[in-house]
Amino acid sequence: MELFNLLFALLSSIPSILALSFPSNAADSPSFNTHDPVSILDAYGPSPGYADWLQSGIREPGPLDHKKRRVVRYCFADQETRDKLKCAFENAITLWSDALGGPSNPKTGHSLFFKEVKGPDGQHAFCFKGNYDAKKKEGAWNNGVVAPDTLVVAIVPDQPPRSTTGYIPSEESDKPWRHFMELPPDVQRSDRNHIIAHEIGHVLGMVHEHSRNDRDDFVEYHCSMVKGFRPAMLKAIANNIPPEEAKRKLCEDFKFAAEYGFAGRDFIKGGNRPGLLIDGDSGFDFESIMLYPSFAFSVDEHKCMEDRRLCPLVKIKKKDGQKVGTEFIGENTVPSREDCDFVRKYYPFGG
Ligand SMILES: [Zn+2]
Repeated sequence: MELFNLLFALLSSIPSILALSFPSNAADSPSFNTHDPVSILDAYGPSPGYADWLQSGIREPGPLDHKKRRVVRYCFADQETRDKLKCAFENAITLWSDALGGPSNPKTGHSLFFKEVKGPDGQHAFCFKGNYDAKKKEGAWNNGVVAPDTLVVAIVPDQPPRSTTGYIPSEESDKPWRHFMELPPDVQRSDRNHIIAHEIGHVLGMVHEHSRNDRDDFVEYHCSMVKGFRPAMLKAIANNIPPEEAKRKLCEDFKFAAEYGFAGRDFIKGGNRPGLLIDGDSGFDFESIMLYPSFAFSVDEHKCMEDRRLCPLVKIKKKDGQKVGTEFIGENTVPSREDCDFVRKYYPFGG
């Protein structure tokens, strides 16, 4: 089924509401068994999402098909996952399609195309052979039917959404399950489908806007207002790390923050690749679907709504180039013009 063509005709209305959970990146090393025929860690290893990883060349936009389209080929983990996520996933594709002005053609200027994998019988095929275990993240790959580079779409409860960033070519790894999107059950709700659109941004190669190396000119980051800061500090101090050093590392060192299970890792400049060129050339984009709203991962969302000083992330308000205050950052629920420029740059029409 050619989703982009089909879905372009659909209109979607996605109201913005407070998030129950917010997209994270995939830099964590989840604890699951690797003795099964396939597991994520057996493959390339989880990769974080943040501005973009394509400009540096560490990830690619994905291969061209014979029609010169960049196809994002995806499968659902199993029947249960498909039953729950198909509609929401297609709605998220529609959000991108609508923002881009339609399917791949000379006018819209992009070559992006989404396609669910089909089996020899012409019916949709699942990523795994009926033995997928969401909790253990285990399953036997549907070999011979599903290509190893297919994006696995799965429901994983009790964790924020997360996805791999960009395309890993087969020369680098040809293992299955190396491209994945893990989603919590609540993204099925129509008012949460934009969370999947954010994750699609990661799959296309985008990283979090607030991870840009120049972000301090545009946003204020209040590290101690991120959920889990205090427990992480106490844990680090208990490990004989001086408080000043613990704070600095939790707020600035991705590896350290990840080791302590601190959600602040998703706000660190450069993400888990310090020094890597990730800043797009279009400048900081407050409309990007890859930017967290002010309340994301806050200790107390309601208090943050009332007092910006209690929010993890706020916009810097400037007049004549000078800072004059801060502003609340709302939740972006559709890809921005510059998000679409990213797609047109790396997924241009005609290849
Ligand atoms: Zn994200």
